Amino acid sequence: MRFKIPLGLRKSLKTTQFWQDNYLILREFKHFRIIAIFAVVFTLLAASFEGVSLGFLLAFLQNLTEPNAEPVHTGAEWFDVWILGVNSPPTEQIYRICALILIATLIRVSCAYAGKVFSGIAQSQLAYQLRLRLFEQLQSVSLSYFTKTRSGELVNSLTAEVMQVMQAFDAISFILIVGSTLLVYAIAMLLLSWQLTLISLMLFGLLSAGVSNLIKRVREASFERTKARSRYASVALEFINGIRTVQAFAAQDFERKRFHQSIAQIANTEIHSFRLSASVEPLTEGLASTIIIAMLIVAFASLIPQGQLQIASVLTFLFVLFRMVPMVRQLNNARAKIGSFQGSIRNIKELLRTDNKTYLPSGAIQFPGLQRAIEFRAVDFGYEPQCLVLHNATLTIKKGETTALVGASGAGKSTLVDLIPRFYDPVAGEILADGVNLKSFDLNSLRQTMAIVSQDTFIFNASVRDNIAYAIENIHETAIEKAARQANAWEFIQELPEGLDTQLGDRGIRLSGGQRQRIAIARALLRNPEILILDEATSALDSVSERLIQESLEKLSVGRTVIAIAHRLSTIVRADKVVVLDRGRIVEQGKYQELLEQRGQLWNYHQMQHEMDSVNLS
Ligand code: ADP
Repeated sequence: MRFKIPLGLRKSLKTTQFWQDNYLILREFKHFRIIAIFAVVFTLLAASFEGVSLGFLLAFLQNLTEPNAEPVHTGAEWFDVWILGVNSPPTEQIYRICALILIATLIRVSCAYAGKVFSGIAQSQLAYQLRLRLFEQLQSVSLSYFTKTRSGELVNSLTAEVMQVMQAFDAISFILIVGSTLLVYAIAMLLLSWQLTLISLMLFGLLSAGVSNLIKRVREASFERTKARSRYASVALEFINGIRTVQAFAAQDFERKRFHQSIAQIANTEIHSFRLSASVEPLTEGLASTIIIAMLIVAFASLIPQGQLQIASVLTFLFVLFRMVPMVRQLNNARAKIGSFQGSIRNIKELLRTDNKTYLPSGAIQFPGLQRAIEFRAVDFGYEPQCLVLHNATLTIKKGETTALVGASGAGKSTLVDLIPRFYDPVAGEILADGVNLKSFDLNSLRQTMAIVSQDTFIFNASVRDNIAYAIENIHETAIEKAARQANAWEFIQELPEGLDTQLGDRGIRLSGGQRQRIAIARALLRNPEILILDEATSALDSVSERLIQESLEKLSVGRTVIAIAHRLSTIVRADKVVVLDRGRIVEQGKYQELLEQRGQLWNYHQMQHEMDSVNLS
């Protein structure tokens, strides 16, 4: 039968902040329940054998202090006679007890070892599951989340914060080990002398309450520390990613100031946190020693003279107390540590939360391929729902045709094309493929029919071959070569030091803009997409590059449905349909010649390009 927490208790547990913070992470234990149970069982076994050792120790001390007294009886006749040797001479009994203490200790340390190993395994399993869940979360969350969140913060969560959570659970398993041993000690103490136990529990209870207050402050300090670290990761990542801009704008001093600020913030919050958590240990130790001395005085001044305690019991009691003090100290340290990791736990929890993020639910129908057309029907879209960037867009993109989107920068062209592979969903209206809403299709099957070639295509830090065959496994060399040739990329690839095997640096730093674009075209060609989304380069490429790219794009477009964000007249002229966007609205659409004759926006655009071209030529 499975143990179920009663509903009322579960509800009240869920409402406490600690539970809320840790629930999302604790539930990961379900993936390795058996390992976690083993860790707990071995830990408890180790604690029990600590108790057994204490029993033997008491017998040993009694034999030493009062050799003529009646020997200890466990209640099991065979054990007393055969193991403890109650009928043997006192010296032999002492040797037997020594051997038993040794055996119990050996079993205890073996169990403690097993407990630690299993809790270590549980910890790395937890980290594995957390990393996996974070990755799945980032894979499934809508793109808008990434535009709102700084990538440095995300990297920090995926790396440093997961490690911190692991350490927090290390501290929790430590608490379990120490806590269960302390429980055994408490029982042993009660059996030895309830009066002394009562006094010590009271005093240690008071001590613990005081420390709790301190730990609360340690926890609060940790939130600030996590924030500072995230900010730092973000600044560092931006600095590295934007190094060209930093250098081009001679902004080293500006960046230095920003960097200094962020590392100073980490140092400040860390020092504050260290100061608080370091004070826990000496404070506990000092107070605990005072408590022990107080107990000693009580025992020797009143309990022994009154005959309520034997010397052997006081000695065992003291032994237990002395072992307890460092444990209580370690326990409080571990609690402080957990407190200091609470910031990281909350950080991960926030990232894993699903109720405050948007997702793109995938439909059930496999996309069979486009038969007739993609239709936008009165589509409104805004990155923030209250601030629309596309208004009432109605448009038909016919299969096999090239549709060119034209408009000033910021008019909404990229946004409009981003709705086709469902990077985002419309706020109002609908987008249909052959009359079926895009949302009804399985997201992957829909995207697999498309390829996007844009100027900011991501080049992975991998070989040219892996960049072209990105996410396609077991592809034949000749197919890659063919795609590279068609993309007019083969020639320059061959000139690279190791050809297709040349490693491209972070973000393809070794390639020119035109070369990167040709890699992107080869990548798209290899996927053989039915629908092609082209975002033409706005930045000026040299005329050779431009011609090569134009040529390869034309090859790539043959027989496909193409939606192109067009900046070049040549593309616009070739298009079957031209769509002109202005401030988020489709203002004109039709054939190029027809639109020119209307002397509207396209005509203006045409004139502007013409003038620019003549300036360039002159
Ligand atoms: P175009 O491609 O025509 O230059 P965009 O589609 O990129 O235009 O941008 C349209 C509008 O949407 C602009 O006002 C731009 O500021 C805004 N925008 C673009 N991307 C985002 C984003 N990720 N988050 C918020 N606003 C955005």
